[in-house]
Amino acid sequence: MGSPATLPVEDAACLFCPTAPWAEIGRGRDYEYDTVPDLFTLRRCTGCGLVFVAPRPGPAAMRVIYPSNYYAYREEEIERPLLKRFRDRIEGGKVRRYRRLVADDTAAVVDVGCGDGRLLDILRRLGPSGWRLAGIEVADAAARRAAERGFEVRTGDLETLDLTRWNGRFGLALVHQVIEHTRDPRDAVRRIARLLRSGGVLSVETPDTRGWDARIFRRGYWGGYHIPRHFYLFDASTLSRLLVEQGFEVVSVRSILSPAFWVYSVHNALADSPRLRRLAPSRLPHPHPPRRAGGRDSLPGCSTAATSIGTRRRHPG
Ligand SMILES: [Zn+2]
Repeated sequence: MGSPATLPVEDAACLFCPTAPWAEIGRGRDYEYDTVPDLFTLRRCTGCGLVFVAPRPGPAAMRVIYPSNYYAYREEEIERPLLKRFRDRIEGGKVRRYRRLVADDTAAVVDVGCGDGRLLDILRRLGPSGWRLAGIEVADAAARRAAERGFEVRTGDLETLDLTRWNGRFGLALVHQVIEHTRDPRDAVRRIARLLRSGGVLSVETPDTRGWDARIFRRGYWGGYHIPRHFYLFDASTLSRLLVEQGFEVVSVRSILSPAFWVYSVHNALADSPRLRRLAPSRLPHPHPPRRAGGRDSLPGCSTAATSIGTRRRHPG
């Protein structure tokens, strides 16, 4: 990768307690794409426990830390039939839960970060036939494929896209493995809240810093860090706080397993060792672990890697 001599960076603070002290919990670099050699510091807010990267890549660094192959892999990976079947089964369970929460078989549904429309396709196959399905996707090629599959797609960055035409339209918004990538998760949630009608349901999935793999690999190798592309890392408490603050009522908190995080965590540890680097798999199951890795409702005795939250919009704002 042609990385610049110095990556443009900016400072960052806790979303909730900007003046609270923080503790450095670890450091790491881009073990997964090797886009830049820089080491990034993970800080945990001593006030609320939110984890954030600071300093972090600035807006001008996005083209560097999201290389062209970042999105290409996403589509290629979908072709593996066994994995696809596994994921479809997991997502099928989710569709049933969304249906119970939304209780409207003609609702409009939006998948924020819809990729090539894989989840929308599952919703079309397994959800009520009356659901009207739409997506938002930043990667052009993926967005085109989603549109070709017959979904209404807006292409662009959630943080800057003009979505006024969609305001108040949706009964269900899915925001899975997206908010940790945003520079301002509060603004992202606010923008998504506007898309929902009153009483609309928002489902958020994001890596969980309280999961056991997060604890084991806390000092920098955890796959959920996805260094340096995940700017904020939540747990059920900080995620709930963000949503309640934006007028949502939390109706469900679930833990999901993300096996891809485990593979990544081990890969990252190996990739960082000159002696063991050759053992690190050169082809990873998925470059962007959370979203496509699927998940699984918590198993007895197993801790988890990601948290999934369902919330209902309390009032228009
Ligand atoms: Zn805090």
